Amino acid sequence: MRDAARVAEVIVSGDDEANRAMVSGVECRLCGGPACARVPMGSTASLVAPDYVPVVYRCPTCRSQFLYPPAPPGWLERFFSASVPRTDAQRAQLEDPRSRARYRSLGAARARWLAGRVRGGRVLDIGCGPGYLLAAFREMGWQTLGIDPNPLFVEFAGRELSVEVLPGSWQGVGKLVADGSVDLLTILHLLHMVEDPQAFLRSAIRKLRPGGFLFVELGNEVDNWRRTLWGTARRLRGRGETPLHYALPKQTYPTSRGLAALVRRAGVRPLYLGGYFPPVLTRTYARPTVAERFVAAREALLSRCGRGSVLVMLGRYRV
Ligand SMILES: [Zn+2]
Repeated sequence: MRDAARVAEVIVSGDDEANRAMVSGVECRLCGGPACARVPMGSTASLVAPDYVPVVYRCPTCRSQFLYPPAPPGWLERFFSASVPRTDAQRAQLEDPRSRARYRSLGAARARWLAGRVRGGRVLDIGCGPGYLLAAFREMGWQTLGIDPNPLFVEFAGRELSVEVLPGSWQGVGKLVADGSVDLLTILHLLHMVEDPQAFLRSAIRKLRPGGFLFVELGNEVDNWRRTLWGTARRLRGRGETPLHYALPKQTYPTSRGLAALVRRAGVRPLYLGGYFPPVLTRTYARPTVAERFVAAREALLSRCGRGSVLVMLGRYRV
């Protein structure tokens, strides 16, 4: 019955393209509801594969957006492998003192925020990058384990931060970590890149013990006030729809509602759902400039009404 109501909503909107999409039965990759098509995807998608030209779909229920058809399996690993030739720039950024200080305090602020809300002593970070979050947990006495496909990050984490990061793709977690052995699972800026977030989450979540905690963080593309303004300006100038974030190819663009629906389907009850939490922003910079203070204050304010640049979810598994 609810599905019929959604179909009616789209038909009333008079969007022929959307109506065709509803008939074809494409499901929202976040909440599972029927979704409608918008515009063909441009340059970001071509980074996945030269001949990959998906369409952006929008879900009328949770307002999330996603690409259809999904990217071919394994594209993410191939994409990051292909980025290895850019290692000079990556290495320079890893070793840059200001960048290191910033990421260290960002990791510490996140870990402190989490440690005040979760119970346990074993954390697994999937797609952990250089391992700053894990290093902060280790300093608080937690057992830590990370996994990342980028060999630069794996080497850096061991050499500079003394945390164990296993080299490998995210699919490899299944064999490396025992089911039900983790108290806190963290997935930062990865869930919206995988081609099937539901399948990814279902397999990753098995590592959590019942009552364990899941922490997800990702870029807010849909409810981001700057993108909304940008998109409106483009429409007024007759240049079409809001362009989505082009820095890295992503497969889904969740709203907070879509993210909540996604984790609920995997058995997680959200406890906190919103934007960046203010402590992270105010403690990110050791010596913030006036401009950085302004950005932090503005972001903290916008996050309270879900319009910031980042979405954060902390939830509990099977309770
Ligand atoms: Zn949806």
